[in-house]
Amino acid sequence: MQKISKVIILGIDAIEYDLIEKWDLKNLKQKEYGKTILPLYPNQDPTTEIIWPCFITGKEPEEMGYSSLNVCAKSLRPIISPISPVISKLFFDFKTKNGTHKKQVTWPILYGCIMLLKKIGLIHKPTKEDIKSETIFDNKQIKSIHLHIPIFDKDDFPEYRKEIIKVISEKLYHPIIEMKLKNEFTQRLKEVYDCVKKNNWQLFMQYFYVLDGVQHIFYRNHKKIAEFYLMFDEFIRKLTEIIDDETLLLIVSDHGLKKGIHTPYGFYSVNKKLGLKNPRFIDFREIIEDKLVKT
Ligand SMILES: [Zn+2]
Repeated sequence: MQKISKVIILGIDAIEYDLIEKWDLKNLKQKEYGKTILPLYPNQDPTTEIIWPCFITGKEPEEMGYSSLNVCAKSLRPIISPISPVISKLFFDFKTKNGTHKKQVTWPILYGCIMLLKKIGLIHKPTKEDIKSETIFDNKQIKSIHLHIPIFDKDDFPEYRKEIIKVISEKLYHPIIEMKLKNEFTQRLKEVYDCVKKNNWQLFMQYFYVLDGVQHIFYRNHKKIAEFYLMFDEFIRKLTEIIDDETLLLIVSDHGLKKGIHTPYGFYSVNKKLGLKNPRFIDFREIIEDKLVKT
């Protein structure tokens, strides 16, 4: 196996494996590609706030630190933890054709209770402090740079991300959202190029939200979705021209998206043959550490 001295991870939210195949996007496919198995299915939708911290820690949600978007304050944990599986079964699970899924609370009373608990500070949205396991970026043997990693980095969620679901049916806003998504793409792409030029890292990870937003907003407009996939494909073509032979480029997504709904598998591709077969999304931490620390 060829020496690997650097690893670039592009965490691209919502790349759909089937679309990569359908449009035969060779640059995104690289030398080896496939589906990944997600830690959250069949029980839970792969929510950004949970799944990316699982990726960087290489752990299942519980071991990573939390498995819900409502995290208990420390003082409440001894009471809540033992009964949380029962609460979850009673209020959050629902059956679908594909098995059991969890959903956001819709019961008004329960929703009210959660809001109240949030207000008085007994539960909160996950923050970096709630990630209990060490991440790959905490490995002192690896010099790393990470940008926009959900929950882990401060500037992870752009403001407009909250608006996406609200404006799906309001076509008037679509061009504004499209412009914001393109701006995000351009800005984060520039950050990648800037970082690649520098020589002060072994591991660099950049996260892109763009494709998730595009596929939610324009779920009926295949031409628009294809336009954004092609933008990414072209970006990878240019990037692979400037990185050296000892750099491993890993593209990875937390789930796919079809007809505006998340699909229960992720996508990965690498510019070198690793011989992986349907790896778990959380396996990459160990794979990368092995390459960087042993070589
Ligand atoms: Zn989404």
